[in-house]
Amino acid sequence: MSTPIPPAPERADFIREIVAADLRAGRHETVVTRFPPEPNGYLHIGHAKSICLNFGIAEEFGGRCHLRFDDTNPMKEEQRYIDAIEADIRWLGFDWGEHLYHASDYFEQLYEWAVHLIREGKAYVDDLSADEIRAHRGTLTEPGRPSPWRERPAEESLDLFARMRAGEFPDGARVLRARIDMAHGNVHMRDPVLYRILHAEHPRTGDAWCIYPTYDFAHGQSDAIEGITHSLCSLEFKDHRPLYDWLIDNLPVPSRPRQYEFARLNLTYTVLSKRFLLRLVNDGRVRGWDDPRMPTISALRRRGFPAEGIREFATLVGVARADNVAEVEMLEHAVRDVLNRTAPRRFGVLDPLKVVVEDYPEGKSEEMDVPNNPEDPAAGTRRVPFGRELWIERGDFMEEPPRKFFRLAPGREVRLRSAYFITCREVVKDADGRVVELRCTHDPATRGGDAPDGRRPKATLHWVSAAHGAPAEVRLYDHLFTSPHPAADGRDPFDDLNPESETVVRGCVVEPSLADLPAGETVQFERLGYFCPDPDSAPGALVFNRTLGLRDTWAKMQAQGRAGKA
Ligand code: ATP
Ligand code: MG
Repeated sequence: MSTPIPPAPERADFIREIVAADLRAGRHETVVTRFPPEPNGYLHIGHAKSICLNFGIAEEFGGRCHLRFDDTNPMKEEQRYIDAIEADIRWLGFDWGEHLYHASDYFEQLYEWAVHLIREGKAYVDDLSADEIRAHRGTLTEPGRPSPWRERPAEESLDLFARMRAGEFPDGARVLRARIDMAHGNVHMRDPVLYRILHAEHPRTGDAWCIYPTYDFAHGQSDAIEGITHSLCSLEFKDHRPLYDWLIDNLPVPSRPRQYEFARLNLTYTVLSKRFLLRLVNDGRVRGWDDPRMPTISALRRRGFPAEGIREFATLVGVARADNVAEVEMLEHAVRDVLNRTAPRRFGVLDPLKVVVEDYPEGKSEEMDVPNNPEDPAAGTRRVPFGRELWIERGDFMEEPPRKFFRLAPGREVRLRSAYFITCREVVKDADGRVVELRCTHDPATRGGDAPDGRRPKATLHWVSAAHGAPAEVRLYDHLFTSPHPAADGRDPFDDLNPESETVVRGCVVEPSLADLPAGETVQFERLGYFCPDPDSAPGALVFNRTLGLRDTWAKMQAQGRAGKA
């Protein structure tokens, strides 16, 4: 056995400390974790945190992480979700190798263990309805009341349980319950339900079963079957831990996993709940599960967030014991950090204004060498065609510039990035007085963007050649909600939906090289932000998503001491 490498101190959190201590003490030879999604929707950024934690720990300590579908509720689970979940985890950069499992793989074993509990007098078939069971359960301050069937002989329960499996009873007619303690201080210990009748087709087991184990009965036992050492889950399962341990203690399981709870990820301006996200999709409030405004992994990918940025964010938020809300700006900061290093620079004009370089010959064009990243010479250059007619950003011109506006204005000279200096000679307007064209001249000696006499314009603009540029639609995104805490105080998040979360800008132009940029590759439109092609893009009808603007608001919030106090 190789000695596990302890994590670097900056990566240490209480879970990693527990794992490191267990390995050091020889309690386990290898760490084995698992990520257990229920395939009833797409994964979101909260799941990404759990994925990074489980797979990350396995990687760092030389162990392994299983992917296990928690497919115990056939009513809500679908194959397409299973496929999407696998694709998302792979895209995030993690690999479960041969360790792909399903709770449904263990249905036969779980059934045998249920029979074992009945034989031991530790479980019984209850004929009460779900409502009656609830009414008997008591409250936090009052003990529960026993079901009249609690003392039913084991033989009778065994018979009924077999007949439940054989399909003799309708949904809801009976359940199997653990026989623990109806007066227990923890309501989860008051004879929890272990099996319910559900005459439903299961995506994997078909109609082999009409009784299904509950999460509580399936989860810990699946962990034990797989030899999971550290079963990491979010805080809402803390109250389930005594039951988790009770089942492990009372069943002949092959290993003893332990459950540890960490705080789930919450994000400002975001709702992380599959049930709610499904509502948004079903109500047509978004373009689908992967609408770039959604917090799902597939949406973040479509929007152009690199997997590395999401992993960096997971590291940045860390692993806490107590619930908290992270700023969505922190996620954006992590993504920007990666894109700033990796995204090639390109030219795109979102609100085009025509420039005619009057002294540049008609029909002539030149290929300009433009750096792919002005801050990183190693990124090389690309060739961008230049011509007599150009598009610049409408906002880069003002007819009557105020004192601090240094960009183009009548009579003023500016630099076109990596091309020429141009001077505005004349402003052409339409009948309504709107500026439609600028007539300019250029200085041929400034080719490439520098003047031999050393003069330096105060502004450098991006541009696209009108003869070569490709038309594009650009979709700009804002938060899906107007409130930083859309689900707070029991409010319906639908009331806080931001009507301006998506703005479609038509009539944009981008440099010709962007016509064949593959979806999922994010570039920086110089001076504007990060953009990537949307899968809706087609030849001649390009569509780009704005991944993020350039300004890092989180860095600013931090500088002002506001970060972390959402
Ligand atoms: P949701 O509430 O969004 O439907 P869930 O917890 O029901 O999510 P599961 O598929 O059961 O979804 O979750 C799989 C794993 O992901 C669980 O271990 C769960 O603890 C973890 N997880 C889910 N949401 C978050 C979150 N916001 N932060 C961290 N971990 C999460
Ligand atoms: Mg769940």
